[in-house]
Amino acid sequence: MTTATGQNPAALADGLNAIDAHRLRRDFPILNQEINGQPLVYLDSAATTQKPQVVIDAIVDYYTRNNANVHRGVHTLSQRATDDYERAREAVRRFINAPESCEVIYVRGTTEGLNLVASSYGRKYFKPGDEVIVTGMEHHSNIVPWQILGKEIGVKLRVVPFNDDGELLLDQFESMLGDRTRMVSVVHQSNALGTVNPVKTMASLAHARGVPVMLDAAQSIPHMPIDVQDLGADFVAFSGHKMYGPTGIGVLWGRAELLDAMPPYQSGGEMIRSVTFEETIYNDLPAKFEAGTPDIAGAIGLGAAVEYLEAIGMARIARYEHALMRYGAERLGSIAGVRLVGTAANKGGVLSFIMDAAHAHDIGTILDAAGIAVRTGHHCAQPVMARYEISATARASLGLYNTTDDIDALVKAIDRVIEVFG
Ligand code: PMP
Repeated sequence: MTTATGQNPAALADGLNAIDAHRLRRDFPILNQEINGQPLVYLDSAATTQKPQVVIDAIVDYYTRNNANVHRGVHTLSQRATDDYERAREAVRRFINAPESCEVIYVRGTTEGLNLVASSYGRKYFKPGDEVIVTGMEHHSNIVPWQILGKEIGVKLRVVPFNDDGELLLDQFESMLGDRTRMVSVVHQSNALGTVNPVKTMASLAHARGVPVMLDAAQSIPHMPIDVQDLGADFVAFSGHKMYGPTGIGVLWGRAELLDAMPPYQSGGEMIRSVTFEETIYNDLPAKFEAGTPDIAGAIGLGAAVEYLEAIGMARIARYEHALMRYGAERLGSIAGVRLVGTAANKGGVLSFIMDAAHAHDIGTILDAAGIAVRTGHHCAQPVMARYEISATARASLGLYNTTDDIDALVKAIDRVIEVFG
């Protein structure tokens, strides 16, 4: 048996039992509060996720007991800080199944990871007339760095279009790959639409023509198992704060032979082996790309987040969130006057919608009065809005702590929007 939108109730119930979200949400102290007199319903995890107590404790513990600069001192505190900082790197390596921990470069977030590759790899290898392929559903951070470089060097952006459901037109991608293509840089899961792109297929098509592939995994890493070797990517960037870790820290993973051949992105302390006024010899990976004192507490907090996710299991999280997304899509989709934007067959926990009755910002304001946090606006993906000829959507995005109760509260508040504006 299936429901009106093609759901199998048994599969849905099975998915919703994959994790115990009611129990897990107790790990997140921030969720236990009222906003405007209503219990907080947090549906903005695509913007940033909330932090479990273990992550908060790891940061407090670092500053309370171990704070010192890393890689620089023989004293005990410095050694403890260095050990914890490097242990977190190894945890990230394991989490993404990278071959070597030296390939895990700490950066500020996805944005910095993308800028690093555009700036360092692009400046070294791109020539006038070369092309970089992105998709029509990129976050601005996977458009602007290539555009800036493009203006400087004369490199052209090619954009893979998508259909009305928000699915990439793969045949067009294939026909864009050519002699001038120097990089394919694609979003794994769209933050505006939720579409999960077939990046493994795209990587093998690109590699068949000798073109490297960069993945923006900001939205996929918290929601599904990521194996960088299985995906066949060359560079992958993601942000700690979207995977239950702190802000200010993220990761660029790259294949060692590519990173080794690339020039430094920033320079100063830590990234050198020796300096004279005549010449500087750069350090090995990962230090070559980690100039200056890093976000030590952030890295340790990220390590704690990774261990938290591993203990739950990414495959179970993916099954649960998929079922919850389907439940939400069915409930929202059945409200007259609500249109879902992004209906790809393969999509993650993002419910972007518009309403006949009200503008996205008005929706957001009414929802906030009901204690519900959603994001409204263009979601840093203005080309996606342009594709649908809209200026903004309201976006409910899911995390492992959301439940069907949260979706039900959202639906009730949307009924209120219709009452007020309809
Ligand atoms: N890419 C995608 C798909 C995103 O959703 C985001 C954050 N909204 C980014 C990149 C940028 O991430 P950050 O701001 O953490 O660098």
